[in-house]
Formats: sequence, C-alpha cells, structure tokens
Amino acid sequence: MAGHAQLADKFVANEERAQWHDKSLWFVRHKRDNISHSIPEWETLRETASQVKLHTVAHLAQYLEEFETNAKKLGVTVHWASNAAEHNEIVLSILQEHNVKRVVKSKSMLTEECHLNPHLEAAGMEVVDTDLGERIVQLRKEPPSHIVLPAIHIKKEEVGEVFHEHLGTEAGASDPGYLTEAARQHLRENFLAADAGITGVNFGIASTGGIVVCTNEGNADLGTALPNLHIACMGIEKLIPSPDHLSLYTRLLARSATGQPITTYTSHFHGPKPGGEMHIVLVDNGRSDILGSDDFRRSLSCIRCGACMNTCPVYRRSGGHSYQSTVPGPIGSILGPSQNAKEHSSLPFACSLCGSCTDVCPVKIDLHHQLLTWRKEIYVRGLLPFSKTFPMKVMSKVFQRPGLYAFGGKVARKALRLMPRWMIYNPLNGWGRQRDLPEAPKESFRDLYKKRKK
Ligand code: SF4
Repeated sequence: MAGHAQLADKFVANEERAQWHDKSLWFVRHKRDNISHSIPEWETLRETASQVKLHTVAHLAQYLEEFETNAKKLGVTVHWASNAAEHNEIVLSILQEHNVKRVVKSKSMLTEECHLNPHLEAAGMEVVDTDLGERIVQLRKEPPSHIVLPAIHIKKEEVGEVFHEHLGTEAGASDPGYLTEAARQHLRENFLAADAGITGVNFGIASTGGIVVCTNEGNADLGTALPNLHIACMGIEKLIPSPDHLSLYTRLLARSATGQPITTYTSHFHGPKPGGEMHIVLVDNGRSDILGSDDFRRSLSCIRCGACMNTCPVYRRSGGHSYQSTVPGPIGSILGPSQNAKEHSSLPFACSLCGSCTDVCPVKIDLHHQLLTWRKEIYVRGLLPFSKTFPMKVMSKVFQRPGLYAFGGKVARKALRLMPRWMIYNPLNGWGRQRDLPEAPKESFRDLYKKRKK
C-alpha cells in the first residue's frame, strides 16, 4: 500500500488545485480564529470541555450503562457492536426486518469507518447520502476528503460535470446556486421515497438517553422525520454526562469547525417519533483498545470538528485522500495507526510537529505529542522501512564517536562543494526536489567555537 508521501505526491502534482485547497482551508482557519477571539472565556471553555471529556472517558462503562438504560426508557432499541462487521450486520438486519429498499443517510463518519454503504448496497438496498458534500463524493464514487467539508477538494466546475452526468443538469454549468437547487430537488425526491433514515451522533447524553445531531443542511431532520424507521450509529466515545454539558460542546464545535457561532441545526432525538421506531447502535471498533492506552486515550475526546485539519500545513498541502483513512489530518494520523498500525505506519510522519493542531483543538488533545509518541511506537514495533532505520542506525554510531563525527563533517564540507549537482539532487533524494542545501560552511561549529573562545 502506498504511504502518505507517495499519495501526497499525486495531489501536489496538480499545482493549481493544491494551492487553492491550501487557501480554502486557511480561510476557514481564519474564520475560526476570528470567532474564537470574540469569546473572552474561550480558553476556559476549552479547558472545561477537555476535563469533562477526560472524566467521561475515564468512567465510560458506567456512563454507557446509564445511557442504555435511559434510552430504553425512551422507547429506543439499543444494540452493541464490537466491530465494523457487527455494526453493518445489525443495521442490515434491522432494515431487512422492515423490508427497507431505500435509505437516506445523513453524514456519519462512523458509517464511513465501517464501510456501511457497500454492505447495504450488496444486499440490494439503495443508500443516498444526503449531506450535499457527501452526495457529491458519493456520486464520484470516492470517500470524503475532510470530516466536515467532505468535498473541499472538488471545484465547482467538477461538481457541474458530476451533476450533469447523474442529475441531468446543463452541460458546463458551474453556478453554485443553480447546482445547489438541482441537488435540493434531487435529494427531496429521495427523502420522500425513503423507507428508513440513518444518522450519525454528535453527542449521546447519558442522563437522558437522548442523542444530538448537528448539521448545517437540516438533512438529518428530514431523513428522520419522513420515514418511520430511524437508526442512529454512535461511537461509544460520543457520550457526555448530562444536558448541562451540551452547551459547552455546541459552543466549541461550530466555531472550531467552520467559524460559525452555532451549527444551523442542532437536533435532539429523545425516543422515536409518534408511530415510528428508533434504534441506536453503539459501536466499539477499536475504541476500547485506545481507552486502554495511556499514550493515546486522550484522542477519544475528539468531537470531530476538523479544526486540526484546517490548520495543519501538511493536510492543507497534501489533501485528505493522501491519508487513506476515514479521519484524515492530525487526529486521523493518531486514530489510523491505533486501528491498524501496519497499514497506517506512514501517517505519524506526515507532520511537521509545529503544534498548530494542539493549539486549535477545542478539547485540548495533545495531538503533536501523540504523533511523536506514535513515531517511536512504530519504530519499536519494527514497522519503519529500511530506508529510514538504516541511516538512523549509521548516524547513531557516528554520533557516539566524536572523532568520527568531526572527520565525517570535514569530508562532507569538502565533498558538498566539489560534488556535481546531480549527485545531490537526483530521484533518490526526495528531500532535494523541493529544497536547496545552503552552501557548505568552510569550518565546523566546533572550530568556530574554539577560535572565538580564545
Ligand atoms: S482532534 Fe481536536 S481539532 Fe481535531 S477534529 Fe478532534 S476535536 Fe477537532
């Protein structure tokens, strides 16, 4: 499997797209900065949100039981899934029991993580993602590239092409108003025809058994108000203790995600609609393993706002698909290896360790520290390629011998001045493709130090 660097190479090959992607996300990051600065108690909010999440995660078993009991009291059927396969089977069996043929789904990264759509489609069901960005990537048969802005990598002209092919819009049309209206009409038909609605969950409230779903398009509301069957798929880490804590997260979520004061629709579901049926599937899928890890437990506090992606200089320049993980960017580079360290071993290295992600995270996850820990862990597990371990071993030997180090420096300073350019800048040296070495100094730091000390 290609690593992050190889896939990023493909993304940056289209220079215009790479620059525009970088600028678009930086614009969102700016909006986040402006609106967060408008709240004097912003840092207090972050600290409190962080403490509440850490407390909840530390008492997760107790809160999960409380949530299940209260959800059942509201008339909800609660299911437990230990992994993605179980989750998919549970959802499929509920749908089959109700003879469902058409499903509308509102954005849920958990169902992406479990690859629910292909599972349902293989059983003959039609699944329509109803978030506009998700629908665009679904029609293009590709995964989202961002958790909040799934189609941020696609230009409006390309959306026009997709809609022309699938929705019959005019060829060459790229006016956002026209395309959005076409999508609205298309999605409305699907909402009206659906037999069931599937949603994700932003927050599960232990003391009430209710769930909260945040969207900007109201698609979760339509998708659950029209069909009689509602299935909510929820990662076990989405819990908060009580409704009193909710305002903390709703204030932080939208501001951190898109720079909005509040998400347009914050929908509360406390039991099925009259005459309807509601199921909640609680999914582990590796989360308990993260809970058991002192190094990475804090990553379970994530509220999936995407702020760490918008600020990350690597994500902005390499695009979400280069991470090959449901959640990309800094937090994805922690969660990906936690699920499969071998498959995602390159992700913790897709980081400049600038710490910007840690600075913006609304729940104060120590992202860049965890990424550094993952690098060590990947080395310890023997997952680093030879091209990285061999030079490090050589350099370790050199650093342990001051004489050899001084001699090596002398040779290198001479050689760098005399070597033909192609010997340094060639396809074997990926580093040199984007950078120029400064001219080699005439003497070493050690010589200079000795001289100036005299
Ligand atoms: S790690 Fe923090 S900044 Fe990144 S998505 Fe999660 S909550 Fe947002």
